[in-house]
This record gives sequence, structure tokens and C-alpha cells, in this order.
Amino acid sequence: MSKTLWDRMPYRLYRLAQEQRFLRYLREQVYPFSPFYRRLFKHQRLKPRHISRLEEIDCIPFTTKADIAPLPDNPELPLSLLLQPDPEKFKGISPAIRMKHAWLRATRGRKGYTQLLQEEYLPVHTHFTIGRTALPTPIFYTRHDLARVREAGRRLFELAELKREDVLINAFPFAPHLAFWMTYFAAEAAGMPALHTGGGRILGTERILDALEKLRGNVLTATPSYAYHLLRRAAEEGRDLSRLHTVMLGGDALPEGLKDKIQYLLKRVGAEGAAVMATYGFTEGRVAWSECRPSALSKEKSSGYHLFPDMEVVEIIDPETGDRVDEGESGEVVYSSLDWRGSVLLRFRTGDLVREGISYEPCPYCGRSLPRLGITITRASEYKEFQLTKLKGTLVDLNAFYPLLSGHKDVLEWQLEIRKRNDDPYDLDEIILYVTPVEGIMKKHLEKELVDLLQKEVEITPSKVVFMGLNRLLDRLGLERAGRERRIVDLRPQISQKEEGSAPGGTEVEET
Ligand SMILES: [Zn+2]
Repeated sequence: MSKTLWDRMPYRLYRLAQEQRFLRYLREQVYPFSPFYRRLFKHQRLKPRHISRLEEIDCIPFTTKADIAPLPDNPELPLSLLLQPDPEKFKGISPAIRMKHAWLRATRGRKGYTQLLQEEYLPVHTHFTIGRTALPTPIFYTRHDLARVREAGRRLFELAELKREDVLINAFPFAPHLAFWMTYFAAEAAGMPALHTGGGRILGTERILDALEKLRGNVLTATPSYAYHLLRRAAEEGRDLSRLHTVMLGGDALPEGLKDKIQYLLKRVGAEGAAVMATYGFTEGRVAWSECRPSALSKEKSSGYHLFPDMEVVEIIDPETGDRVDEGESGEVVYSSLDWRGSVLLRFRTGDLVREGISYEPCPYCGRSLPRLGITITRASEYKEFQLTKLKGTLVDLNAFYPLLSGHKDVLEWQLEIRKRNDDPYDLDEIILYVTPVEGIMKKHLEKELVDLLQKEVEITPSKVVFMGLNRLLDRLGLERAGRERRIVDLRPQISQKEEGSAPGGTEVEET
């Protein structure tokens, strides 16, 4: 899509173009070249010609994280998601596509044809999903895909109204993950000077702050927790970050209270009025999406994440029934790749729940006619194996602790530890909340407030609240050392399902 048109077409035209693009993609790329979907279609007795409108996409079954994760006895399973054009292998491929490939082979010669295929289909870059129990799933990009990542990154910077002469300090942790690399490719595509620090673990917080100050960084990219940590340190050290005008946050959700705390710190380092922008992305989606700058600056409701209808098809479904919900209704985000090569997914259930779903109205802030995804997204998949964990016999969504504690105005940092009393797997759960309070706060007062808040919102009373100094807590969180912060630590010994059923006291409920 032309660079000048990507955000200015009426939505009706986007939708038409998206439909054409998707049907063609399904017919000419996914069905003939994806071993995974070819098998699935065959199993469902489904042919691309059965789908003639975008609405009919729902006859394709969902793909879940479990469907694509490597298995101990089939570690190569994710490779089956790769588009692999080998017309010899796929009998029954449509004559038109066979003809196209025969023509290319005839005109380019064997060598030229192979080169052409490699350019488009050979994986050259990999990201991994963050796996805790399951093995991490690789998602592959080809050179064709990396060109698209650059374009998506360029669009993100355009939405943020960044200029070529801005200086970017990228503080996302260096890892084969979307946030770091999307920033890298975005800066490259936008032609913006950038320092990719690798985050606290690689360059160290002090040197990142030095870079921000001495290189006069205007744009900072980081996870919400790390940006908060970095700016708090800058404020303590009395640094001058007055050149900073944009903080783009990714990798994790940004709770409203944390945004306020970051804005307050920005004021303290001389960067009052800097835009604090939330982004949303997941490994399988290949790119991240962002709100626009006027929305980030506004005190009113956020515009939501501006999507790219030429790069993906996003549906919102009722997570219980799997049925598509109407515009503006909350539900689970379901993603289909559009025109990507490498690892391709159709109707992938992200497990992410979005409040107020999707909107097709032009953005009230920037007027762009792109579809927008609601700003409040809870990642049910983040702590997959214990996001709905049994604490003291009650099912608890651990993700719910983040906005409550990270967003709390009197909490500087926190960590939640879950363990078994006396480390006995059959004993009761203990929840210990470690807190560094804001200076000058009455601890007794805050303890009662936090206990009441958790009881009210998640129906859990911590067994203990332990107050500690900032350095000790930062050490526990590993923000400087670990690739990923240790915000919720589950130290309960694992018991196999079978044992659990017969364990005395295994399902006991503690009276609180
Ligand atoms: Zn907008």
C-alpha cells in the first residue's frame, strides 16, 4: 500500500481492499504453501473457494497457542506454519498458481527462480514467545516480512509524530522479542538516529540515563516498569531530561495509575508534557500497534490502538462461545495474518481480552480512518499456567494485581510471592506481598489500605505484607539483571494432577 494512503482511505475502501487481499492470500499463498493450514483445511473438508467474503472467515477453525507450540515429541511442529512453496509437493494446487511458478522458472532459470523464492520465503529472523511451561514457540520472518515490519514501525513513529531529527534511546531488553526488534526496524525505516541499549541488563540503568542526557534523547522506548524505574532514578539523581518529548511503552500493558506516575516523574526531570504512549502487540502478530500522539497527550479517553488493515484481519469474539461480537463489544482478540510469509496464522486466539472491542469510526483525535482496538487489554495468556491459579483454594487471576499495585500512588515498587507454608506441597498457600512505599507514607496505614484493596478487588488477603527498601526490592525484581522482571514469583512445588487429586488437604480452603 502506498505510504501516503495507508491511513487516509475511507474505511469502506479499506474493508474492500482487505477482503480482496485476504481471499487472494488464502487462495494463492496460505492454502497451497502452508503445510499446517493445508492439513487443517483438508481435515475440515474446506477449500478456499468456500470462502467468498471476509465475513465467512469464521468457517476456518481457530488456531490456539497449544496448536502451534513445539511438543517434546514433535519439536518441529512450528515449522509447519511456514509458507513453503514447493509445487512438486502439493498435488492438487490450483492450475493458475502452478502455471505462475512454471512461468517464473522458465523465464528466470532454475537459479533465478530459487533466488526469487528465497527472497520471499526463506526465514531470516526469528522471535520467540515467552513460554513458562510450554516450550517457546518460534515465529519466523522472511526478508519480505522484515520490509513489512519496517513499514509498520515507520507508521508507529508517524502516529507518534516523531521527526527524523529526533534521537531515540531504545531501552527494551535485548532478546528475540517483538518490542526490541520492532523499535530497531522502526528507527531504521524512519531514518532516526538511535541507540539500542539492550536495557538494564546489557548497558545498565546509569549508562542509559547518561545516554538520554548526553545524547539529548527525545524518544524513549521501554517496558512500563522499566521506564518507571529509569525515570525514578533520573529524578533521584536530579538529571536533566528536558529534551525527552515521547515515551513509547510496550511489552506489557500500561495501567492507568502507572501512566500518571510516569508523567509525574517526567515533570520532575524537566520533561513535563511529554507524550506517554501505550502500544500493544504479541509475538504471533509480528508487529505492534499504537495509539496516536494527540490521544496519548489527552486527559480524555484514549483513541485505542490504530490497526493496519493491510497487514492483518482482527476479529473480536466471545471467548465462551467463539462467536464474533458486534463493533464496540468486549471480547477476545483473534488475529489472522495478511500477506505475510514465514510463520502464518489464521484465526489465532490470542487469549487477550479487550474492553470495548474494535471501532470502525474515524479516530476522534487524529481523524485517521483505521480500525482501532480498545485501549484496555488484559493478557490472560501472560501467566498462562497460573493466571487463574488456586490461591488458598480460590481461583485468582494474577494479572489483576498489576493495575492495583503498579497503579497505586503510594506504592513505589512491589513483588508478590506465592509459596506453600513450610514449603510443604500439601500445606496451604501463602501470599507474601513485598512493598516499597513512597517516602513519608504511614506503613500501617498503607498495609491496611492494600489488604482491603486486594480483598475487595481480587478477594485475596495476603498472608503477610513486608515493607522493604527500594534497593532490596529492585534486587528481588531483577530489573537490572534478569531479561524479564520477576514481579510475581510462584515458589509452590509442582504436584502432578494425579497426585493432587488424592492429596490430603490438596483442595482445602483456608478460612480468612
Ligand atoms: Zn488517532
